[in-house]
Amino acid sequence: MTDRRVGIVGCGQLAQMMAQEGRTLGVEFSFLAEGDENTGCVEGLGTIVHARDGADAEALYRAMGSPEVITAEREQVSVELLRALEQFCPVYPRPDAFEKTQHRLREKTAITAAGLPVSPFLPANDYDEICVAVKKLGYPAFIKSCENGYDGKNQWRVDSDESLAAIRDEVVAQEDEQEYVVEQGVNFSREVSLIGARTADGKVVTYPLAENDHYRGTLLVSTAPAPHVDEQLQRTAEEYLSTLLNAWDYVGVLAMECFVSEDGLLINELAPRVHNSGHWTLAGAETSQFENHIRAILGMPLGDTTAERAAVMINMLGVDREPSLPNEGVWLYGKSLRPGRKMGHVILLDDSQEALAKRIDAMLAELYGETRRPA
Ligand code: AMP
Repeated sequence: MTDRRVGIVGCGQLAQMMAQEGRTLGVEFSFLAEGDENTGCVEGLGTIVHARDGADAEALYRAMGSPEVITAEREQVSVELLRALEQFCPVYPRPDAFEKTQHRLREKTAITAAGLPVSPFLPANDYDEICVAVKKLGYPAFIKSCENGYDGKNQWRVDSDESLAAIRDEVVAQEDEQEYVVEQGVNFSREVSLIGARTADGKVVTYPLAENDHYRGTLLVSTAPAPHVDEQLQRTAEEYLSTLLNAWDYVGVLAMECFVSEDGLLINELAPRVHNSGHWTLAGAETSQFENHIRAILGMPLGDTTAERAAVMINMLGVDREPSLPNEGVWLYGKSLRPGRKMGHVILLDDSQEALAKRIDAMLAELYGETRRPA
């Protein structure tokens, strides 16, 4: 199998790992860089094409070597560009999935339309509407801009009239360009995510749930299978994800982030792509999320998602030295060092969650010092 080619929109570490894993299947890759995007992560992994404003889609498609299918490594990609490329080959996940997930209100509306639970929410267009929504939903509430919000950016948690008043100026400064969604604060015990893949003919696989710990809005540690998850929670999450995959006639990997609350599992957000909380699958599952994404979009049989051992992925945020403590794999993305930037990740595997817990603590101490948290 040598004449299969996938085009990836985006040139970051997710594109890098999709290509590294896909190449083991004999698939070739090309990459489309939007604007002045940095392409360092994918140098040497295939042709890199630059899409400038107003570029002709057919010319881009040909420059990418006429791939059999095109995918993307991030959700903030031009849907217009994806639709233009779709004239020449399938684009998976479908552009509709990007359109829904890149806008929080559309995303929540689509999730509830599929009959699935999210935290109660209300739309708001300006500060006054935000205040009305917060009054209806109560404190604490989360105010999130519908677009350009990720890793906790462009969002505020308010727990009193004073904290609501304190964000007024910031909201007013950007309210002309932004729509907002106001969400009721969820009293959750933990955050988990489920990753699954679906082929065009409807075959679905899912991985064990991962439990995610964030630091300042960025994922720091994912543990899988999520400790103390009963079968019922895993099954419920699988049902939710399958419902979405089928309702959207989705092709490829979809990641679903959820809160485990007293009211059960609530969906927080979706990512139409391989996801940071699934990086543990590179060493911890029979088939990685990256390989299964490539398999799904090419219509190849999906691989086994079993995890034999307890796994953890620790993000290397602002750190690019290989840790010296024993580990089951370090991935360095080759990006230039900046404080807090995702530079790579390390995976640990062990026979039990208890054995793993001690090693996680020691690894965090090696990477980040006494605070066990990035600078
Ligand atoms: P998000 O950008 O939606 O992923 O939110 C970033 C983080 O803020 C989440 O990982 C949660 O820890 C927290 N968060 C977001 N929305 C809520 C909510 N409705 N209730 C409680 N915590 C939330």
